[in-house]
Amino acid sequence: MELFNLKDHSEQVSFSQAVVQGIGKDQGLFFPEHIVPLNNIDELLDMPLVERSQKILRHLIGDEVPELENIIKDAFTFKAPIVKADENIFALELFHGPTLAFKDFGARFMARVLGSIRGDKHLTILTATSGDTGAAVAAAFYEQKGIDVVVLYPKGKISDLQEKLIATLGKNIKAVQVEGIFDQCQDMVKTAFDDVEFKTTVGLNSANSINISRLLAQVSYYFEAVAQLPKEKREKVVFSVPCGNFGNITAGLIAKALGLKARFVISCNANDTVPRYLQSGNWDPHATVATLSNAMDISRPNNWPRVEALVKMQGWSLKDFDFGAMTDAQTEQTMQALYKKTGYIAEPHAAIAYQVLCDNLKEGETGIFLGTAHPAKFKSEVDRILNIELPLPKALEDTVSKESKAATLPADYDTLKSYVLKELNLD
Ligand SMILES: *Cc1c(COP(=O)(O)O)cnc(C)c1O
Repeated sequence: MELFNLKDHSEQVSFSQAVVQGIGKDQGLFFPEHIVPLNNIDELLDMPLVERSQKILRHLIGDEVPELENIIKDAFTFKAPIVKADENIFALELFHGPTLAFKDFGARFMARVLGSIRGDKHLTILTATSGDTGAAVAAAFYEQKGIDVVVLYPKGKISDLQEKLIATLGKNIKAVQVEGIFDQCQDMVKTAFDDVEFKTTVGLNSANSINISRLLAQVSYYFEAVAQLPKEKREKVVFSVPCGNFGNITAGLIAKALGLKARFVISCNANDTVPRYLQSGNWDPHATVATLSNAMDISRPNNWPRVEALVKMQGWSLKDFDFGAMTDAQTEQTMQALYKKTGYIAEPHAAIAYQVLCDNLKEGETGIFLGTAHPAKFKSEVDRILNIELPLPKALEDTVSKESKAATLPADYDTLKSYVLKELNLD
């Protein structure tokens, strides 16, 4: 697989290089120049998830990573069911993995790909999270030989459960709560990648949604969703994706470029840079605001250039997207209305995707909104809003009772750098 730096076309890398490097020169994202469509979609849709994903990812990645098939079998050990949530509307539940969020797919795949291609090199994963990424990455890399993980998250701005999932593991997983907001965490990560000496010393790698391996893994479940629909409903499918950094929807659009028949709805919370851009043509990020759907509290989505590149490459138009942005009050109302109507429990991210889908679904279409997190990950909000008492899944009860081992640092790159060098015994 050949990938190019979207900011500097002269930088061209293989899939393995892109996975190890994460990001290119000038913080440019790696992306393929062409996507060759699959010619056997119907046949693929008849296969089980693991076998189909092996075929799709082998098609995309080509003959690199000899262990790819085993990696996929080992990474995708849980289901991605579609569940009827309303008339002509299904939830694609992506939260049946170890940290109960869709990011388990990408993170588990990436951890195994890196483990397979790193050779003898020690690696340090540095990642910023607004919640679920860190949890998924921490779990996916826990006790992986030769790889340390440093997870930055904004102090007090992620849920208790998310924090516990990141900060109670220990061993090769270093949790750092930053006194600031997510965008500052993300900036610290970007600065680290620009620090060539540091980067080389620690073998720096990113596991953010900028890493191409995560995106490619996520392509799989869009096919899995359509495969579960009866054949007559497969022609007019609409996916509604709750967007933060726009990695998930990029994966969906790659699936579309591969030939999956579907259109896409962009669903956001009050951090609505993209919906306003699609409306007005002006890219005008506002300050990030904290919302109920905190994994989407991002005003400068770092995968947006990939969406634009793909739209251009495929000859699509940004006008083809339906979109919407919801306030917290609307999110709460939606959760209550859906629960009352059909009994389906959606956490805030899924609820936004559901509502924006309802607002844009046309006659004869089948809607699928992405259930990106388990409702229990947002238990206190869900319990309060729906006036229920959600049981905590068994796997999480243990985690919750453990002590956090996080360090607390200011939003300052030099402090972070010293901390990492000390933790890795390199100072
Ligand atoms: C990360 C996340 C999102 C946003 O996904 P992107 O790929 O960043 O757009 C949405 N919902 C949940 C629950 C998440 O964890």
